[in-house]
Amino acid sequence: GPANEPSSSADNIRVVVRIRPYLTSEAGEETQWLFESDMCIAEAHGRRYGFERVFTPSDSTKTVYEAVARPIVSSVLRGFNGTLFAYGQTASGKTYTMMGESQNPGILPRAVQEVFAAIAASRDTLFLLRVSYLEIYNEEVNDLLRLDGRDLAIREVDSAFVVPEASEIIVKSGEDVMELVRQGEANRAVGKSNLNEHSSRSHTIFRMIIESTAAGGDATPKTEPPRGARATPSRLGRSSSSASMLQGDAVNISELNLVDLAGSETLTERFGSRQQRETKSINLSLTQLKSVIQALSKGEAFVPYRNSSLTKILRTSLGGNARTAVICTGSPASAHHKQTKMTLLFGTMAK
Ligand code: ADP
Ligand code: MG
Repeated sequence: GPANEPSSSADNIRVVVRIRPYLTSEAGEETQWLFESDMCIAEAHGRRYGFERVFTPSDSTKTVYEAVARPIVSSVLRGFNGTLFAYGQTASGKTYTMMGESQNPGILPRAVQEVFAAIAASRDTLFLLRVSYLEIYNEEVNDLLRLDGRDLAIREVDSAFVVPEASEIIVKSGEDVMELVRQGEANRAVGKSNLNEHSSRSHTIFRMIIESTAAGGDATPKTEPPRGARATPSRLGRSSSSASMLQGDAVNISELNLVDLAGSETLTERFGSRQQRETKSINLSLTQLKSVIQALSKGEAFVPYRNSSLTKILRTSLGGNARTAVICTGSPASAHHKQTKMTLLFGTMAK
């Protein structure tokens, strides 16, 4: 990539912490933590955990977006892949951070808005955008954009992994995208007696694929698909695992992945303990993601992507030129002290 892009995988991974406020249900709770934004530390019982940045309960999602997500979104608009994870125990604020609430949009709607604003402002580039929305539950890949897309196969093509049957829906506006997200959430809920339990055990991967090429040449969509048409990715991949739908010599494809992870309490292995090598895990993808992120941030030559569905699907958007950020979300409550500590340990190990 261009000379101003960081070149090593380790430089391309950022890990930050976001601590949510107490919930009303936690009235009277106490904290054993000291979170200092300026110092970028979290401290309890004399033990300090250092991070590039700690967002305290008074920091808004907008602040988090601008500091952590915006650089990845701009990088994706310049043709590099990017992935943003929310990692933390159930009820620590992952979905609040990623999706937000109607009056307080999360990273996803903000990113979508920013991508379409950038496209509208661009005079000399032609864009084609597609969205896919997958869920991984017990290593099974489910397409959230269609109800019959269950347990889809992941296929290896060159060094990328693709899910050939996954819907990739062409989008023309931010409203198109948000409507797909709503449909995806509705599909996710179908047949679930306990949606909270299900969502704390599964990961969602929202992916926006951005194709761009200089306008004015012969660069026109190969076929102008009808609104909402499904595109089936072919076996070829460039920077992304998806195939180009625009024509022309210089089509760039990049993708933005926003990943709302399963609750970190489902990661059964214990850090630094003898049980670490225990293979039994109720959430293999989360265990393997930890290994992949550790390998990338240490700049190791071997990165164990192929051990789980999540890391396979994100293969081309983790490492190399891809930008990655992990937002570790935590609760201040003493009832959650142990899990918050585990999350912070994950964060320090990942960087
Ligand atoms: P998770 O997705 O990690 O299980 P949620 O995002 O659903 O957790 O958050 C749990 C609860 O905490 C929700 O009621 C949410 O509105 C609230 N919450 C989370 N983070 C914040 C925050 N930064 N500010 C205000 N409320 C928050
Ligand atoms: Mg959630």
